[in-house]
Amino acid sequence: MTLSIYDTLTRTVKPVSSSNGRTTMYCCGPTVYRDAHVGNLRTFVLSDLIRRSIEITGGRVELIQNITDVGHMSQDVIGEDKMLTQAEAENKDPFKMAREYEANFHKDLALLNVITADKYPRASESIDLMIAMITQLISKGFAYVGSDGSVYFDAHAYESYGQISGNHLDALKPGHRFEYSDETGKGFHADWALWKNAGARTQMIWDSPWGPGFPGWHIECSAMSMEFLNNHVDVHIGGIDLRFPHHENERAQSNSFIGTETVDLWVHGEHLLFEGGKMSKSSGNVVLLSDLIARDLDPLAARLCFLENRFRSQMDLTWASLESANMTLAKWRKKMAQWGDSLEKTVDQEFLNAIETDLDAPRALQRLRAVEKSTQIGDGDKRAIFIYADKVLGLDLARTKLNKAISQEQQSLLDARLAARAQKRWSDSDVIRAKLEASGLEISDSADGHEWSWR
Ligand code: AMP
Ligand code: ZN
Repeated sequence: MTLSIYDTLTRTVKPVSSSNGRTTMYCCGPTVYRDAHVGNLRTFVLSDLIRRSIEITGGRVELIQNITDVGHMSQDVIGEDKMLTQAEAENKDPFKMAREYEANFHKDLALLNVITADKYPRASESIDLMIAMITQLISKGFAYVGSDGSVYFDAHAYESYGQISGNHLDALKPGHRFEYSDETGKGFHADWALWKNAGARTQMIWDSPWGPGFPGWHIECSAMSMEFLNNHVDVHIGGIDLRFPHHENERAQSNSFIGTETVDLWVHGEHLLFEGGKMSKSSGNVVLLSDLIARDLDPLAARLCFLENRFRSQMDLTWASLESANMTLAKWRKKMAQWGDSLEKTVDQEFLNAIETDLDAPRALQRLRAVEKSTQIGDGDKRAIFIYADKVLGLDLARTKLNKAISQEQQSLLDARLAARAQKRWSDSDVIRAKLEASGLEISDSADGHEWSWR
């Protein structure tokens, strides 16, 4: 395998590692207190792009993506768990709400052609793992029970704290953004809670050696990644906002627990903006896949837009770019059908080189456009290259035009147009054609009638 990706820890482009032909991957999963927006989905598609880029050359991947359903605290409201705040707003049991958003998350991944992970462990079902890890961290001298009964990680005990983000302890001032002021029992301001004392909280709490409480968000990912990937992660993925403190703290916990560097390559996807702005509930511009579908856009248009940008660059998604990607997909699928029906694939080295060079998907797509337009490459070969490329891109380019049934109304219009043509009522035929086109079909006349396809 020659795939190399930028590693946030070493700040170099590094080859992806594997052992016995198997690469272990961990992707920080969704916090299931709402539906994933297109920004979250960009990060999940990044994970899928990495997976597919490994598999295209015969590598095997074992992927774990966790479900955060407890312990992710709000940055806006002190001491509030995102799950509980939202469950209260929806007047629902928090676990029931979690399962609903989790189901939606799986639907979204399927719509985006994201290959299913080996396991989606839930934080709420991994509490024993976390308690075992915290117990070990205390006994090894990396954690302590604070004066408020919560358990804290001692940031000073982990020597190379700060290497992922560059936020070293001596430079972290008290009151930095991610310090929770309800964590009153800790000895140093940059320490963080591994286990939070339940206090007055009554929901989503568990018994522990330190009394009833709930886990901190960071320990969840350490416990689940170490357990399910046998103590070593080849590629760890998350959005850029997770670099600090989430991944910094996760690294300190996992490395202190195992005693070695547990993650080989830290990949951080840059943020997605929408129409130039940060998506936020308060500004009302949070865009979901269901919003694309409501506008008759193929969800894979979002996937193509993600691929048109380098993963380490911030990107601005717009309705115009989604419309344009939607048209590109339709055009490519149509060409694919014109180029034949073989399912053979041909390795295209130029495409592969682009992908393997720090996932340069925009350059890979440029290569695909050159293949599309080439006068040197025959139709069958074009199709075979597209089929190969689609193993990585996941855009369903070989989808046949008939996979969406036409409505009864469209069928009646098609019949009426055939009748009009047979009776040489050309202007009627043109009017009906316009109606059919407005409904999303493309009509081409043939010797014995007409043919249609989805535009
Ligand atoms: P959450 O559901 O909040 O736990 O986030 C799930 C993933 O989405 C994490 O990897 C975040 O870093 C990532 N993420 C959140 N917002 C964005 C955004 N606007 N663009 C890209 N990734 C994001
Ligand atoms: Zn995580």
